[in-house]
Amino acid sequence: MPKNVAILGSTGSIGTSALRVLESLGPDFRVVALAARDSIQALADQVRRFRAPHAAVTNPKKADAFRRLLGDVPCRIHAGPEALEEMAALDEVDIVLTAVVGAAGLPAVLRAAEKGKTLAIANKEPLVIAGRLLTETARAHGARILPIDSEHSAVFQTLQAGDRRDVRRIILTASGGPFRNARPEELAAVRPQQALAHPTWNMGPKITIDSATMMNKALEILEAVWLFDVPVEKVDVLIHPESIVHSMVEFVDGAIVAQLGTPDMTVPIQYALTYPRRRPSPAATLRLEDLGCLTFERPDTTLFRSLELAYEVARLGGTAPAVFNAANEVAVDAFLADRITFAHIVETVEACLEAHTVKAEPDLDDLYEADAWARDHAGQRAHAVGR
Ligand code: MG
Repeated sequence: MPKNVAILGSTGSIGTSALRVLESLGPDFRVVALAARDSIQALADQVRRFRAPHAAVTNPKKADAFRRLLGDVPCRIHAGPEALEEMAALDEVDIVLTAVVGAAGLPAVLRAAEKGKTLAIANKEPLVIAGRLLTETARAHGARILPIDSEHSAVFQTLQAGDRRDVRRIILTASGGPFRNARPEELAAVRPQQALAHPTWNMGPKITIDSATMMNKALEILEAVWLFDVPVEKVDVLIHPESIVHSMVEFVDGAIVAQLGTPDMTVPIQYALTYPRRRPSPAATLRLEDLGCLTFERPDTTLFRSLELAYEVARLGGTAPAVFNAANEVAVDAFLADRITFAHIVETVEACLEAHTVKAEPDLDDLYEADAWARDHAGQRAHAVGR
C-alpha cells in the first residue's frame, strides 16, 4: 500500500523540494493533498502533475481564480483559512508534511496530531509556540512527530545510536549567517539585500533573515526542547560555517555522534517520509576528501542576543515562546520593508518579551491571544523606532 501524503505549503521552498523527493521515491508514495496560500498557478501545475485529489487555497480571494485555472481537472478544492485543517484531517492521509510559514499552520498541525497522523514538520512555529500542547496531543493520539528542520533531523537521526536517557547534551550547529564576524556597528547598518544572501543554505526570505540574526537558531533551541523532551540547559549551539555537520548528540559516556551531509533539504525531507527506512536519494554525496577541514566555534552571544533570549524564553515557558516568535515575525517584515534597521529586529523582540506578562500552562486561545498581543505590540514598537 502506498503512503498517502498531504503537503501544507506545497509551493514554497520546502514544499517544492518535498515534491521532488516524492517524485524520486516513486509509487510507494502518493500525493493526495496540496495546499498553498496565494501561489495558485504553481499549485494548479502541481495538482496536474501529481494528480492530487485534494487541493487547498487558504486565501479565499484566490479560490475562484484557482478553480478557473484547474478547469475540469478532477480535484476537490478546499478554500479559506480552515482548508489546511481539512487537508490535515482527511481520512486517506497518512503523512502530513507541514511547511507553512509562520503561525498560520498551527491549527492544522494540532488537527493532524488529534487524528493520529504522522507529522513531518518543517516549520518551527508549531513546536515553538505550542510545544507542550502539540507534543501532549500527539502522545495522547499516537501521532508521531518527525522533524524536517535539518538540525533536528540530524539530532533525531543521531539519537538512533543511543538511549534518550543517556543524552548529556544536544549540540545544534549554526552556519552563523553572513554576519558572524561583523562588528556591532556594521551589523546595525545591514540592508535587506545583504541579509538575504545566505552563504550556504538557499531558503525563503523569512528564514534567511532569521539565520542572519540567529533568531533561527534561537527558535531551534526551543524546538529541540519539545521535540526531544530535554531541559533547555542540555541544548547547546556551535557555529559551524561549512554547514556539513548538521547537528550532534553527546552521550553520557562522552561519545559524540553526528550526522553529516551536503546542505540539501531533500535529505531530511526524505528521511521523515521513509523513516525508519532509508532510500537512495538524488542529493549529492558528501565528499569529505574535498572539504579538507571542518571548523567549529562558540557563538558570540553579545553580538547575537537572540541566543541568550532563547534560554530565557524556555525558562519562562507558558506564553513567552509565542510572544518571542510573533514579535520576530513582525520585526522581520518591518526590516524587509526597510522600515526598521537590522539591529532593531532583536531589540523589538526583547522589548516585547519585557512588556509581556507570561501566562503559565496556556491553552490554544491563550496562545493566540499572546500571539496577537505580540504582533500588535511589536508593530507599534517597530513604528516608533522606524529608520
Ligand atoms: Mg534549521
